[in-house]
Amino acid sequence: MDEKMSEVISDLKSYLEYLKGMGIVSLPVSDPGFEIKPEEPGPSRIMTLEEVQKELGDCKRCKLHQTRRTIVFGEGNEKATLMFIGEGPGYDEDVQGRPFVGKAGQLLTKIIESINLSREEVYIANIVKCRPPQNRNPEPDEIQSCNPFLMSQIRVIQPRIICALGTFAAQTLLKTDTKISALRGKLFDLEGSKVIPTYHPAFLLRNPERKREVWEDMKKIAELLLAP
Ligand code: URA
Repeated sequence: MDEKMSEVISDLKSYLEYLKGMGIVSLPVSDPGFEIKPEEPGPSRIMTLEEVQKELGDCKRCKLHQTRRTIVFGEGNEKATLMFIGEGPGYDEDVQGRPFVGKAGQLLTKIIESINLSREEVYIANIVKCRPPQNRNPEPDEIQSCNPFLMSQIRVIQPRIICALGTFAAQTLLKTDTKISALRGKLFDLEGSKVIPTYHPAFLLRNPERKREVWEDMKKIAELLLAP
């Protein structure tokens, strides 16, 4: 570094120290090479579920559109304090265009009713809105394509509590690869909502002895909903 440059840097340093002493801790950037991009117009700034759904449109953003029958957007109360998020539509949901209407859905309905709520009072959605073929697990690119729309739904609803149903919902929402057995029953924060992961109803159909743990999680949710 030449002498002139060291001098400039030293002057700049003392000028910044001087500003800091005056309480000025940030400066506007005016370097024309440094471009601050305006926020992309996207679903995150949309204010109603109807607008989010309109933005989603006849979505072909990922390969699931090739095999789906219906987009399962989600359903329930736009002002819900409790939101359930599952993995993705199965056969029945794909046919009916509604989340959790098959066997696992019937169990979810009972779980919701166990804390004296109805499906109409909560909001139910999924990590992916289109059925993965043969009910395979959703793939990372599919989850990524769908995620902005799910996040918009969460931002519109602003539920106090999000119950993440199963591995995919919990791991996607919490950006972790920790096992569901270690996550369940614990509380996490997602943009001001409390996330509580629990087992997926389809898992409970195969492992009914694990229902007791879900019941514990539901009791915790009911208590949190009653708290001021
Ligand atoms: N399983 C899910 O995860 N979501 C549904 O909508 C139905 C079954």
